[in-house]
Amino acid sequence: MTKRNLQGVTLECVQGDIARQPDMDAIVNAANAELRMGGGVAGAIHRGAGPELERECQPLAPIQPGQAVITGAHNLPNRSVVHCLGPVYGVDEPAEPLLAACYRNALELAEQNELGSIAFPAISTGAFGYPLEAATQVAFKTVLEMLPQLSSVKHIRFVLFQKADARVHEEVLERLLD
Ligand code: ADP
Repeated sequence: MTKRNLQGVTLECVQGDIARQPDMDAIVNAANAELRMGGGVAGAIHRGAGPELERECQPLAPIQPGQAVITGAHNLPNRSVVHCLGPVYGVDEPAEPLLAACYRNALELAEQNELGSIAFPAISTGAFGYPLEAATQVAFKTVLEMLPQLSSVKHIRFVLFQKADARVHEEVLERLLD
């Protein structure tokens, strides 16, 4: 588990379930374009939030790769859910700026809504097939670039389902900060 304080923002990587982060104001959904339940992260978040989340999402759908929208968290212990549509690897091109836009847009929404903390899953690295290490580099580079612009967000957590994925995140972050 890595925890760093950079420019007044705590940045950390943990192994866990994105739907079980009760101390975070916002959690990020690796959504599908229709903002429906689906599997993986979206399944866990919609199961935790209950059916009212899909109902709130429907008028906001469909969203485009790179886009983010914000909703309430319903039965989840958070204030908000930020839904990001990551690129499908090899289909939505160029993948890197589209994935970077997810992280940037999610952080901008958190700022606009004056949220203090936000937890991200590894967007696009499951069903959407983005290689984990490459995706991790995009995620951290984007977040590190955004740090000077953040004022309300003071805590950013990366939540990885698998231990090996958490380790890759820790290694990539250490390398970028060296
Ligand atoms: P995408 O469709 O954007 O690829 P997925 O939900 O399929 O999104 O997977 C994104 C990443 O999240 C994968 O690395 C997957 O292992 C991980 N993951 C799946 N379920 C959870 C969960 N409940 N909490 C955190 N990460 C999860």
